[in-house]
Amino acid sequence: MKILMLARNQNLYSHKRLKEAAEERGHELNMYDPLKCYMDIASHRPKLFFGSTEIKGYDAVIPRIGASVTFYGLAVLRQLETMGMFPVNESVAIERSRDKLRSMQLLARDGIGLPVTVFAHDTKMTEEVIQRAGGAPVVIKLLEGTQGVGVVLGETHKAAKSVIEAFRGANVNILVQEFIREAGATDIRALVVGGKVVATMQRTGAEGDFRSNLHRGGSACKIRITPEERSTAIRAAKTMGLNVCGVDMLRSNHGPVVMEVNSSPGLEGVETATGIDVASKIIELIEKKAEYGKTKTKGKG
Ligand code: ADP
Repeated sequence: MKILMLARNQNLYSHKRLKEAAEERGHELNMYDPLKCYMDIASHRPKLFFGSTEIKGYDAVIPRIGASVTFYGLAVLRQLETMGMFPVNESVAIERSRDKLRSMQLLARDGIGLPVTVFAHDTKMTEEVIQRAGGAPVVIKLLEGTQGVGVVLGETHKAAKSVIEAFRGANVNILVQEFIREAGATDIRALVVGGKVVATMQRTGAEGDFRSNLHRGGSACKIRITPEERSTAIRAAKTMGLNVCGVDMLRSNHGPVVMEVNSSPGLEGVETATGIDVASKIIELIEKKAEYGKTKTKGKG
């Protein structure tokens, strides 16, 4: 098969691994930086170009679109979907997952466990918002944040109030969440590929940090998850419509709660911690599912 990967940095571990896995299984995989592609949106003949080369003849596309290039990257992916190329994750599903608020609303609608989360526009509501999230300590999250940036613990009522007011004063949207103290600065990431959990790791925050992101100095190790956690991860992936994703959960007193569903999960941490070849599982999924014209939405969001 001919596989196309949309990725900005060819040298990232995850991207190199996916190429390696594809080639090991006898496929050709070419990477293109989505920002360097341009589109011809002509009626009935949508085309995509990279320099003077027309990108065509691929069986599937692996979108690895970073949060900072979501808008243009998804436009390129949509173009490929319109052309009938099978996407590992569809543009609409990725777009949904990039919006934390929308994601939580969708997960809540399907009854998936979530931390108590409150969202408001008006700073006059700050007192009520903190109360509704269970009172201090609360976690305050920038809606547009990634990799733990813009995730703050308001330890006291006063601190929480000042952080909320500062963020709102800067005109950014935030979520206020109950602090799951019992998770002990540890979260679980379940890698879901094609409706199955293929690898699970536990991440623990660096000394003194309640955030367990590996980018923030956290460490990872292999973990066995409970059947309830497994089914929560699978249901979350299904709700979001993602074939491949990383589901981040916390172990709370009221069962597993989902914090986030990541549509471009990094492979380095999870492959190193578990020894599982996740890249090959993703390529296997393509082998099973890729069929011309079989995209659900064909770029129609
Ligand atoms: P990002 O998308 O920026 O990684 P997350 O929502 O995943 O932000 O939060 C980053 C980290 O902070 C999580 O991995 C987790 O360890 C910790 N965290 C987030 N929300 C909570 C919460 N409600 N209670 C306890 N810890 C949390």
